[in-house]
Amino acid sequence: MSSTMHKSPPNKSQKLIVQKFGGSSMGSIERIQNVARRAVKTASEGHQVVVVVSAMQGETDRLLKLAAGVSSRPADREIDVLLATGEQVSIALLALAIRELGFQARSFLGHQVEIRTDSMHGSARIRSIKADPVHECLQNGEIVVIAGFQGVDQHGNITTLGRGGSDLSAVAMAAALKADACEIYSDVDGIYTTDPNVYAKARKIPRIGSEEMLELASLGAKVLQTRSVEFALKYKVTLHCRSSFSDGEGSWVVPEMSGLEGAEMKGLEGAVVTAVSCDKNIAKLTIVGMADKPGAAARLFAPMADAGINIDVIIQNPPENGRTDVTFTVPRNAADRAVALIEGLQDELGFVRCSLDKRLAKVSVVGAGMVSQPGVAQRTFAALGDAGINIVLVSTSEIKISCVVEDQFADAAVRVLHDKFELEKT
Ligand code: ASP
Ligand code: MG
Repeated sequence: MSSTMHKSPPNKSQKLIVQKFGGSSMGSIERIQNVARRAVKTASEGHQVVVVVSAMQGETDRLLKLAAGVSSRPADREIDVLLATGEQVSIALLALAIRELGFQARSFLGHQVEIRTDSMHGSARIRSIKADPVHECLQNGEIVVIAGFQGVDQHGNITTLGRGGSDLSAVAMAAALKADACEIYSDVDGIYTTDPNVYAKARKIPRIGSEEMLELASLGAKVLQTRSVEFALKYKVTLHCRSSFSDGEGSWVVPEMSGLEGAEMKGLEGAVVTAVSCDKNIAKLTIVGMADKPGAAARLFAPMADAGINIDVIIQNPPENGRTDVTFTVPRNAADRAVALIEGLQDELGFVRCSLDKRLAKVSVVGAGMVSQPGVAQRTFAALGDAGINIVLVSTSEIKISCVVEDQFADAAVRVLHDKFELEKT
């Protein structure tokens, strides 16, 4: 059979293209066949194609449930062995589907292309990739299919990179292979000025800087996994986010923009804000009456850091009579754990009480243009104020202003800010 198979025809402008397909793109046999056709189309244009895939939609969750059925505290190492099977199924089926279309394809698990990671099961970090076997296959005209989300540590243990980690696998592969393009396919056709489900006026952004994208990803826009954007920024990988169900141009995420293009992106043309995002997974804790002395804050946050709880906005009130209040936000699903950890410190730190508010959301305006434009914070506050939306907390970075508001007002806040900064206009 293989002797009758096509090889990529030689092409002078041949490119090496990494294509990543997520769980929904791989959600059924028909969808896997659709992915196969996409890969084959690119290969038949004469390009070298590396496909990185996730497990079929719902599979990772299904496997986690199985584990929960046999163990109340399953060992991280075994969870990784289990979860890695989801992507193993995907790569084999996709390679078969591609071969069925008459093209050569070969599947690889993470360890076979030597995606080396540290030993942090469940959130491993990639240390190196030895891409030789991939290059060899590409040279032979084969389409290479790689399991996303997984790697191998120095002792040969299977590791996984954290939920949504196939994005990171694809970006890292693109960097290691010095690919010409890294296409991230999903069920949405790009990155929008805000969630179109929240506001119909949302507009697709044709090009966005990686730094802005990093803010958006970490603020809860779900198109790209945050760590993958971080990696793309660091290793200067350009990403093309597009839909696996249509042929249209998606959104480009560009590592750095300089010169005229950069000036345009940075708002000299008037666009100061690029997007509005919303994170509804927010809770606020206030520690009332903490002793105002050196080391107290470090002590307060230590147990949460050890437990891997991400602290976001932090505010400390000016002290009165040697006591101060500290307020901060955590992901809502970690709030109860955070409270328990803090209450364990009450004797030591001598605070009066720890109060918790779970009904909050964080709405953020993001734009590289803010760096050079005064007044963005004022306009943000004015828009919310005019709409009668109270701001509970504020935090800013060079390219972002985040306001914590009551979650019942979150969608309204997104809409008024989208209007205020005229994001529906190009
Ligand atoms: N299958 C893994 C998950 O569901 C990795 C991925 O989808 O990127 O998180
Ligand atoms: Mg995914």
